[in-house]
Amino acid sequence: MFKINKEVFIKDYKRKFVEIHGVPLEEGSDIEKYQALGILVKDYVIDMWINTNKRYNDNKEKQVYYFSMEFLLGRLLGNSLLNLGIRDLCKEGLKELNIDLDKLEELEQDQGLGNGGLGRLAACFLDSMASLNIPGHGCGIRYKYGFFEQKIINGSQVETPDVWLRKDNVWEIKKHNKAEVVKFGGEVKVEYIDGSLKFNHINYDSVLATPYDTPIVGYKNDVINSLRLWSAEPINNEFDFSSFSRGEYLKAIEYKNSVEAISQVLYPEDSFYEGKLLRLKQQYFFVSAGIQSIIRHYKKHIGDLYLLNDRIAIHINDTHPTMAIPELMRILIDEENFSWDDAWRVTTNTISYTNHTILAEALEKWEVNMFKKLLPRIYMIIEEIDRRFREELNNRYPYQEEKIHKMAIIEDGFVKMAHLAVVGSHSVNGVAKLHTEILKKQEMSDFYYMFPRKFNNKTNGITHRRWLIKSNPELTKLLKMTIGDSWIKHPTDMEAFKRFKDDAVVQEKLSEIKKNNKERLAKKIKEQQGIIVDTNSIFDVQVKRIHAYKRQTLNALRIMGIYNKLLGDPNLDIPPRTFIFGGKAAPGYYLAKKTIELINAIGKKINNDKRINDKLKVIFMENYNVSLAELIIPATDLSEQISTTTKEASGTSNMKFMMNGAVTIATLDGANVEIRDEVGDENIIIFGLTEKEVVNYYRNGGYSSWAVRNSDNRLINVTEQLVNGFYDQDRERFRIIYRDLLDYNDEFFVLKDFDSYMNAQEKVDELYRNKAKWQSMAAVNIAHSGIFSSDRTIQEYATGIWGSGFLYKNL
Ligand SMILES: *Cc1c(COP(=O)(O)O)cnc(C)c1O
Repeated sequence: MFKINKEVFIKDYKRKFVEIHGVPLEEGSDIEKYQALGILVKDYVIDMWINTNKRYNDNKEKQVYYFSMEFLLGRLLGNSLLNLGIRDLCKEGLKELNIDLDKLEELEQDQGLGNGGLGRLAACFLDSMASLNIPGHGCGIRYKYGFFEQKIINGSQVETPDVWLRKDNVWEIKKHNKAEVVKFGGEVKVEYIDGSLKFNHINYDSVLATPYDTPIVGYKNDVINSLRLWSAEPINNEFDFSSFSRGEYLKAIEYKNSVEAISQVLYPEDSFYEGKLLRLKQQYFFVSAGIQSIIRHYKKHIGDLYLLNDRIAIHINDTHPTMAIPELMRILIDEENFSWDDAWRVTTNTISYTNHTILAEALEKWEVNMFKKLLPRIYMIIEEIDRRFREELNNRYPYQEEKIHKMAIIEDGFVKMAHLAVVGSHSVNGVAKLHTEILKKQEMSDFYYMFPRKFNNKTNGITHRRWLIKSNPELTKLLKMTIGDSWIKHPTDMEAFKRFKDDAVVQEKLSEIKKNNKERLAKKIKEQQGIIVDTNSIFDVQVKRIHAYKRQTLNALRIMGIYNKLLGDPNLDIPPRTFIFGGKAAPGYYLAKKTIELINAIGKKINNDKRINDKLKVIFMENYNVSLAELIIPATDLSEQISTTTKEASGTSNMKFMMNGAVTIATLDGANVEIRDEVGDENIIIFGLTEKEVVNYYRNGGYSSWAVRNSDNRLINVTEQLVNGFYDQDRERFRIIYRDLLDYNDEFFVLKDFDSYMNAQEKVDELYRNKAKWQSMAAVNIAHSGIFSSDRTIQEYATGIWGSGFLYKNL
């Protein structure tokens, strides 16, 4: 394990600081101090990084490549120090230099190259792969601008660019000599040479893909894996003086700009698909660069491409990197002279796919004409995959035209990426038990019947190193004091904590820790918005992307309902609550942006209403991101997981909250079901429609939101308050929400679940009043959270899908 002592660290740090900044440490600014520390840590890591790669090559271990359009890493300094096992030592060393490590860590810009859950999952997986000694690397895009920064101005969301590279990124290393060329456009010339067809791609435009590698530090095991992010650059010889001399200066600039646009910006959409050409370019860009570099490395160190799937696993995170399938086929056939059948066998055995959603609006399909023009050879290959698949379908289901249409890859002028991903991979997994069952029984049932053995479940997880050890040091300490520290390597050992659920001393300690974390958050709220919140109130939190299916509206209507009740009876005896929201709306998602406005309008009214004696406060935290999550989650009493049943594939914040001792109020959706199974009905508050009821409504109709509303006075009041000037003098401001709920019949059953949600919240009040009961629930939730560590998830991927984590020394 990496070893260093404090004195050496101090000496190294001072030296590094002077070397980088050319001024004495005493004269440096905080940001300079952060940079020097980051660069020093990277120095410490470099030898281990080289050794890890050498070991992988020498031992010929199976390598996993996790392809994802998003990696939502957050900050790296604190977690790298933690995983190296030197965070405490550095903290003490810096203290001797009068430097506060926590403060330096906060100066790091979040690496926010993702929208939400999907990108954060990829980041947790990288941490777990390295910590479990699995040779697993990330492959993605180095966006110049990450997910936008959210400002709340006059209660509305305003987007500004996330210039995360402004102060340099100390973690990455640019690898010029590992660049790859990616080809777009042009035509394919087919020739018949020596008895076989040759495909010649000509007249294409070239883009240079240059990789930037970031070290991913394993937990105290000397393993450093890599996250490789690709950046698009013009190819030098096409931007040289000869083009200037030919008077093509402007053309050259245009070329440069159009190339750089490819890795310029992350699309700020979550669970929503838009068929934009630039996005298609992004997808092929990183997939092609990634596959080419894998093949290049493999040929150099191993060689026999026919055995590729013995040594390489490529995983695609949702359908965004599905072109890995035809790209690998292209390389094997066009460049390595494989037959179609051999290429297909190797490709399908190498690639595995995770499905993340059943929302229809999120399923990717690309217009054939656009696709063909941008990627002519890749399109040809997909056509051939489709042709062969249809043949198979015809044999299986003769004359069942409709079924074949439904399952085909190319249909009605579109390329359907999920179908390509299922057909071209050997494993398809959902991300929670319920989600996988819905995939098998409903959304992908035709494919499931055809390829039952491809389908499997891998319930999501979160890294307990970031989401507990790093973000909640006091709780970590309590766990170590009570049950030791074996759970750090074996998170399910946390179950031992259950023994202490009714221990008065432990309960007292839990409540003190929660209180301290709430104080920390309250301070931030005060700084950010000047509002003072009561840390004795219930911190009732819903933080996640703003989306109709996640039902922030249900939460908002509930708060309006409680407020009405309090106005009717200001002496009503209920525990005070602080409602905390956070989350970004996609810039083009009008309803979601209106939801943010509504929450802020409710806050403005309630927070300033003296009649209710500060019983309720509503806070919308600006710019929800990983770092803010690390502050909010440990301070939460009540975790809101209230999506419409069947719509949230898994959710991962639900896991982060329980691990930090929050009690969950939830629908039986996604991984909430498994959380309930773990903690038992008495330690979670469940409400709302069941899966069967929702499916029945969607299939057979019979839901009338008007009827539901008209039968409940509370609902009549709150819906009217959306449009009668109660929350904003502009009565039209929230009309769209009103119409969505009533005139468009409330697609996500907000009104239908209102009554059951209100009752569940009353139960929360009752439980919270009983401090011992509440803390015992918190303790049980913590104790059962180990199973939701991404270490468990990654272990399952490794043994169940990738066949990785073992050696091929003798081959
Ligand atoms: C965990 C996390 C998410 C996912 O939250 P869900 O509630 O599961 O949708 C989104 N954003 C950030 C910053 C996260 O840390």
